[in-house]
Amino acid sequence: MGLLDKPLISEIAIIDKRTLHKYNKKKGKNKVKKCKNKIPFMSYRMYMCSAYWKKRKSEYFSKHGKKCAVCDKKAGVTLHHKKYDNRLNGKEPDDHFVALCGKHHHEFHENHKLSTDMRKDTDLYVFTARQVANSNIDDLSWI
Ligand SMILES: [Zn+2]
Ligand SMILES: [Zn+2]
Repeated sequence: MGLLDKPLISEIAIIDKRTLHKYNKKKGKNKVKKCKNKIPFMSYRMYMCSAYWKKRKSEYFSKHGKKCAVCDKKAGVTLHHKKYDNRLNGKEPDDHFVALCGKHHHEFHENHKLSTDMRKDTDLYVFTARQVANSNIDDLSWI
């Protein structure tokens, strides 16, 4: 995890440039400078647009496969943070994540309050939504 332990100038350059530019315009240069020095602590929005997140995401998907935990679909899958702690940016443990398709990610957030620890909510949602998804496929006789 050397990359994230001590961010170097060259590594900082891999943050999405457009995002930095937008941030720069909005907040003033000093804030950006401050932010650059705190890669692991950057805001959620900055992190989501950074190469650090891209890297962490692809690490997770290559280890666990890229399919929705509810419906097994492979299209439009994103990685949902069950728990979010900005001190862990880029080095979150795998069990802070679950892969969800667009539909089920949306459904989860529609029905649950955002918080930094949604592990219980997410696990329960995946469990029950998965049962619903399976019963829809297996039993169409009642329609
Ligand atoms: Zn799904
Ligand atoms: Zn999410």
